[in-house]
Formats: sequence, structure tokens, C-alpha cells
Amino acid sequence: MIDEGYIKFELEWRQGKLPDADAVAELNEWRKPLYDAGLIGQYHDIGVGFGNISVRSNNGQFVISGTQTGHLDTLAAEHYTTVTAYDTAANKVCCEGPVKASSESMTHATLYELSNEINAVVHVHSARLWRKFLGKLPTTDSTVSYGTPEMAEAFRRLYLDTVFATNGIAVMAGHDDGIIAIGRNMREAAQRILGPS
Ligand SMILES: [Zn+2]
Repeated sequence: MIDEGYIKFELEWRQGKLPDADAVAELNEWRKPLYDAGLIGQYHDIGVGFGNISVRSNNGQFVISGTQTGHLDTLAAEHYTTVTAYDTAANKVCCEGPVKASSESMTHATLYELSNEINAVVHVHSARLWRKFLGKLPTTDSTVSYGTPEMAEAFRRLYLDTVFATNGIAVMAGHDDGIIAIGRNMREAAQRILGPS
């Protein structure tokens, strides 16, 4: 079963201005090779998009791709939105922009919470890489699904207890095909996935 694409937390969306142009440019530069490699895209049989990316902006905010944009080969500013606030314990995300934030914005939020050094998050889907790296790279427990407070706790433990803090790439065992990379910037996060693929 593909557990993907629907929002599991309380999402407060305020329709608002386009996100920061510099953030959008940095995101789009690296979304392209990820999309071309099939790491962001769509499950055609069920019509559900996958893969989402974000960069930290200011004041603890971050800019993330909108929900169900995975099938688009190129994104414009109106496909991104700014996460203005989040509370992982209360399972709530607030965003402001032209579209609703990705259904995995809670997972992104939990990663930014781990360290001020983390300024970019890349979440992709790849059956091949998932099978290859499951249990070999830092891996969240198979009972933990995306977009939940349990996933926040799982990443916190990986960050403290494994090489995730230094190698910046992890496998989500409870989220089929799901891989996460973090980085000091978008280039570093994206290359952590594109490198070994
Ligand atoms: Zn996913």
C-alpha cells in the first residue's frame, strides 16, 4: 500500500503572497535533477504525486513545495508555500502562500527542529534506493508512518544515536520508497541522494 499524499496533521492555510524568490530559485535548481532522476514524480496507477523539498527561510520559517505538485516537471513560485509556524507536539502546521503545504511538511518541520545547521530537506521516493539502503543507512522504524509526531521522535533519535547527523541521509522503513536527506543547503541535501543513486 502506498501511504502517501494525504495530510495527517492539522493544517492551517492562509492564502497569501508568493514565497521568497531566492528560496524558490534554490529549490528549483535542485528539484530539476531530482525530478529527472524519477525521485520526485507521480505513481501513475493511483494518480498520487510524491517527493517534496524545502529550504529554511528566516524566523524559523521554511519554504516547501505545495501538496500534490510531484507530477509537475517544473514548478513556479505559485507552487510553493511558506510554513510560518508549526508545533510537532500538537501535530499542527501553519502555512501562508498560494497553495497548501506538502502533506509531509510536518516531517520537514521536525528535521529543522533538530539543528540550526539544517537549512534544506529533500524527501524523495525510490523503490530501488529504498531496498538498497533499508537498514544499511540510518532507518526509522517500520511502525512509524510519515507526517506524525512519532516520525518526529524517530528522526530525533536517529540524529542523536546514528551517523544521520553527519551523513544526512535516512530511510523511512514505515513509508514505502521514502528517503530523507538534510543539508546545510539545498545543494548538499540533494547531492546526498543524487550522489549514491
Ligand atoms: Zn513520501
